[in-house]
Amino acid sequence: MASVTDIDIDRTRAMTLTFEDGRSCAFGIEQLRQACPCATCRGWRDRGEASWPRGNQSTELSITDAELVGAWGISLVWSDGHSTGIYSWDALRRWCDAGLESGLVVDLVDLADTEDESG
Ligand SMILES: [Zn+2]
Repeated sequence: MASVTDIDIDRTRAMTLTFEDGRSCAFGIEQLRQACPCATCRGWRDRGEASWPRGNQSTELSITDAELVGAWGISLVWSDGHSTGIYSWDALRRWCDAGLESGLVVDLVDLADTEDESG
């Protein structure tokens, strides 16, 4: 299980994590918001739609609050009021390793709940 030794949040730009092995990765807030792992946002993405922004929703975005979730992840509260997604260190690390520049190549889903619906 990935763990993090340092968390640096620039509310309007990025969340930078340093993992226990020294690897560090900056996640842009728009990428994080679009990759929100909550059930609602996953539902949009499953339908091939963007989970953010929706409709004429403002694209002004910032992180208004953040809270550690046990030892395994972080919950982010967004300026649009959304707060239900929990980002696990494991998923963020996979995303980091996969290359942030290629966009959301790793959906942040398969973490806590392991409902296997492949096939
Ligand atoms: Zn969400």
